[in-house]
Amino acid sequence: MSLRQIHLLGSPVLRQRAQEIGVVGDEVRALIADLFETMRAANGVGLAANQVGVARRVAVVSVEGAGPEGGEHVLVNPVVLESEGAQVGEEGCLSIPDIYGDVRRADRLVLEATDERGVRRRIEARGFLARAIQHEIDHLDGILFIDRVGALKRRRLLAEWRKARKGQEGLLRDVVPEGASRL
Ligand SMILES: [Zn+2]
Repeated sequence: MSLRQIHLLGSPVLRQRAQEIGVVGDEVRALIADLFETMRAANGVGLAANQVGVARRVAVVSVEGAGPEGGEHVLVNPVVLESEGAQVGEEGCLSIPDIYGDVRRADRLVLEATDERGVRRRIEARGFLARAIQHEIDHLDGILFIDRVGALKRRRLLAEWRKARKGQEGLLRDVVPEGASRL
């Protein structure tokens, strides 16, 4: 396993529609392990392959809780079968650090996704887990949460982002595990 660099807003791979996975082999399993490791080190609740520069349909989520409210899920080639209800809540993104906005999402989802063993599974999700999964599936379609906040709010968030990024170059972020930078 290894930590991967996270691509930041402006990196073209975040806007690509990720390609379907054929067979879940060792290479895909290594990608899944790296996504989990990088997500945890960055204190995230989800991470999509686009965010580490790989435009393939693989994402992971980890939300506290059990059953449809939480848990760890591997999402290879996820397909939403049913979605209903609505919820509005704050989202952020490891590719747009320190920027947050309210996003409207479905409240309940039923989806199908392949896991790390290549088994197709049906997943039911509600509340925050449903939100996290919708955010990650958006990534696989090249969509970011700032695309879903409304035009005025988006302009404000982008201005905030540009201000925060002033003087910084590059569109890759090194993930440093918590505590590692403290001596
Ligand atoms: Zn994100």
